[in-house]
Amino acid sequence: MTARLLSPSADTIALAADTLKRGGLVAMPTETVYGLAADASSDQAVASLYDAKGRPRFNPLIAHVASLEAATKQAILSDTARRLAEAFWPGPLTLVLPVAKHGTVCDLARAGLDTIAIRMPAHPVARDLLRAFGGPLVAPSANPSGRVSPTTAAHVMADIGDRIDAVLDGGSCALGLESTIIDCTGDTPALLRSGALAVDDIEAVCGLLRRPEADETAPTSPGQLLRHYAPKAALRLNAAAPVEDEAYLGFGPGEGTLNLSEDADLHEAAANLFAMLRRLDATHERIAVARIPSSGLGEAINDRLQRAARVRD
Ligand code: AMP
Ligand code: MG
Repeated sequence: MTARLLSPSADTIALAADTLKRGGLVAMPTETVYGLAADASSDQAVASLYDAKGRPRFNPLIAHVASLEAATKQAILSDTARRLAEAFWPGPLTLVLPVAKHGTVCDLARAGLDTIAIRMPAHPVARDLLRAFGGPLVAPSANPSGRVSPTTAAHVMADIGDRIDAVLDGGSCALGLESTIIDCTGDTPALLRSGALAVDDIEAVCGLLRRPEADETAPTSPGQLLRHYAPKAALRLNAAAPVEDEAYLGFGPGEGTLNLSEDADLHEAAANLFAMLRRLDATHERIAVARIPSSGLGEAINDRLQRAARVRD
């Protein structure tokens, strides 16, 4: 597959929106960097996105929306969050918020968390695409994992043009730096990532930000940057079969309480991972998980399983 390089127009935006509705991947310009857009409500589309980026981990992704109203369908905005959104949206500010009860952003996009990161981009092509698509899009930077973020359509074509459906060419990104991320789930908003919107400007609106220590690898320590999805149940990994009262999360042909993929398809397993863990967590105190190969998306699946097995309340 080679991506179609599209010059933005009403027709090509409609074509791109249609591609996304069918689960495809479209790179779009934003004012920060080029994002690789996928339907945020589809675990399958998000699994394809991880495949294309070759990400070794499932980190939660940012849901991009076209309006403040669309954001309020996905997340609960505190007064502070609303003030920030009104001051800086559309623009390079991402807010981490409690997820709304009837939100449509899928588990894999949120990495199983009860919070959601949301941003309303300012780039006219991104906004047109969001409106034409009619729902939230996840859009991490459109580069293979570990490479620098692309700021032109040519970068995207060169880096991942062979793994995606289309690239909307919106010229060079004005900012070239990722969005600033603010966690608005607690009493005092916290800076999770500095970025294209200056912290001083944000503090002028909401007062001093908390600055948690960067500590992603020890998610139970105070000042954590990013909580990981942690089931209440104890997880036993690489289990050939369940024992006693364990639920069994299978992979490949065979019996199981639930099966990530009877065809041993890692893409399907990634799409099912968080939703199935949640279902088993609701009914069992112990979950045994089949061995998952570590090739392709298996690396990210195993990374998440290991974190979920380690992190206990
Ligand atoms: P990017 O890969 O540039 O799209 O960046 C996404 C960033 O948003 C990552 O650094 C994530 O850790 C962060 N993020 C997304 N969702 C959440 C969340 N629910 N809680 C905390 N951080 C988040
Ligand atoms: Mg990136």
